[in-house]
Amino acid sequence: MKIAFYDTKDYDKIWFEKLLPEYGYEIVFLESRLNEKTAVLAKGCKAVCLFVNDELNKETVQTLFNFGVSVVLMRCAGYDKIDLKACKDKLTVMRVPSYSPTAVAEYTLAMVLSINRKIHRAYARTRDYNFKISGLMGTTLKGKTAGIIGTGKIGKEAVRVLSGLGMKIIGYDMYPDEKSGIEYVDLNRLFEESDVISLHCPLTEESKYIINKDSIGKMKDGVILVNTSRGGLIDTAALIEALEKHKFKGVALDVYEEEEEYFFEDKSNEIIKNDELIKLLSFPNVLVTSHQAFFTEESLQAIAEITLNNLRAYEKGEKPNNVVEYK
Ligand code: NAD
Repeated sequence: MKIAFYDTKDYDKIWFEKLLPEYGYEIVFLESRLNEKTAVLAKGCKAVCLFVNDELNKETVQTLFNFGVSVVLMRCAGYDKIDLKACKDKLTVMRVPSYSPTAVAEYTLAMVLSINRKIHRAYARTRDYNFKISGLMGTTLKGKTAGIIGTGKIGKEAVRVLSGLGMKIIGYDMYPDEKSGIEYVDLNRLFEESDVISLHCPLTEESKYIINKDSIGKMKDGVILVNTSRGGLIDTAALIEALEKHKFKGVALDVYEEEEEYFFEDKSNEIIKNDELIKLLSFPNVLVTSHQAFFTEESLQAIAEITLNNLRAYEKGEKPNNVVEYK
């Protein structure tokens, strides 16, 4: 069984190569992302292995299918760039629904603390021998309210780590888990009462732009917004407009609406043409990182193991839980 592995980075290779002898698969590591033009590189492979920004649209599904590809292995949890309808009856899509929710939650905590206490700015200052602290004042988080949108695996871990700060937690979920002990409120109340808002729901038709001009208007002045989920949850234009009006104490983004052209790549020698990204990076109270919340040794090892186990189960004709169906 040959796997075309798109968007390969050195850190992917380490973990997959370590496990290959045990599984007996052959992997063709490709630097390109999957799109209509690069689908041809999967010729001769039975499976493709994709990451968050690989795009599988209707045309690409057909091309892969014609080449004999039958299975898509997402080495991530999200699958918002996959046309599941087009895949139906052609390609089986499998994902890694949970590899380390803790890794993402711990990173969320790091973002909350960094943006609140302006550690990113202090770091830049002291490297330049500027030891002034004016402008770096934060707020004590103990006793403040954190609103968690999406209380699944990662959201629950975010609740756990933020509770550790002594914050009051409220949550909103389309399908609340009443056994979780989380105090659920409606979305409007979450916007109105939270001092920190953290996004942990998937990007779907319902959740797209859940943070928009209207919802931002309902938030407290001086709120902190953190997004480690998917960029499309935030209407970036509305966010920038509100940032210009000093709405937020801080905004921390590990994901960005138009990240696919930039994130995971070194663009330091290029002219950046995305005005919204340039603008976001210009705000002193915005911290942008490049989709790295998942990025721990434990996560990468788990991703490699679960991805290869998915393929093994598929080959054996089992129907693993990790199959993503079109509904
Ligand atoms: P999960 O499926 O366990 O939980 C998602 C929760 O969101 C569920 O409880 C679901 O009911 C809820 N939900 C769905 N639609 C909603 C809506 N419109 N409004 C409110 N709640 C809604 O998923 P998870 O493992 O916790 O992951 C959450 C998201 O985190 C993923 O979809 C992915 O986009 C993102 N993620 C990011 C990184 C990163 O490195 N930055 C890594 C992994 C996952």
